[in-house]
Amino acid sequence: VRFSDFGLSPDILRALTDQGYEHPTPIQAQAIPVVLQGRDVMGAAQTGTGKTAGFSLPIIQLLLAHANASMSPARHPVRALILTPTRELAVQVAENVQAYSRHTPLRATVVYGGVDIKPQAAIMRGGVEIVIATPGRLLDHVEQKNISLSQVQMLVMDEADRMLDMGFLPDLQRIINMLPKVRQNLMFSATFSPEIKRLASTFLTDPVTIEV
Ligand code: AMP
Repeated sequence: VRFSDFGLSPDILRALTDQGYEHPTPIQAQAIPVVLQGRDVMGAAQTGTGKTAGFSLPIIQLLLAHANASMSPARHPVRALILTPTRELAVQVAENVQAYSRHTPLRATVVYGGVDIKPQAAIMRGGVEIVIATPGRLLDHVEQKNISLSQVQMLVMDEADRMLDMGFLPDLQRIINMLPKVRQNLMFSATFSPEIKRLASTFLTDPVTIEV
């Protein structure tokens, strides 16, 4: 399998060449076509498997393909939301997303707590299609009206088991209640505990299960 087999935009393939990626990892080979079909995904994958590109590449592709011609170019509503349990993971995911989308017009930014909120607010008020966030700080930005979640088409919950362990379930529920009902949901977790299965049955619609 090659990255060029998935029908990804030349701008994405060029970024992968820049990164020096030659072949998709097993989780990428499984996840990319399923996400491109618009299906929800429950992915069992540890860090180091390439899961970040597994969800980021098809999200970027779908955002490029569904660019809304009637949308003023000056406006960049949030269309993909990636939630992570920690600042470190958020930064790492954002670096990946920014690298993979660097030859496209899409904008991505990262927000997390423990730092001044104002510079993050200024970036989000300028418009971004992809937001990578820790849950608490994202809610702060919504409350301050720095972003609206009303046009989110894709939601990723990365390291969902760690988000539950860290007590983020109420924040996750509040965030999900703000999203459009019709959207694509991707959830990744290193473990498949009963709590994770319950979260999946609440938030995912007819998910494809991917295990590597
Ligand atoms: P992740 O599991 O998403 O944290 O990725 C682990 C590491 O593998 C990261 O440093 C990625 O940049 C790298 N990586 C992801 N996909 C590929 C690939 N197809 N070929 C080579 N390296 C990759």
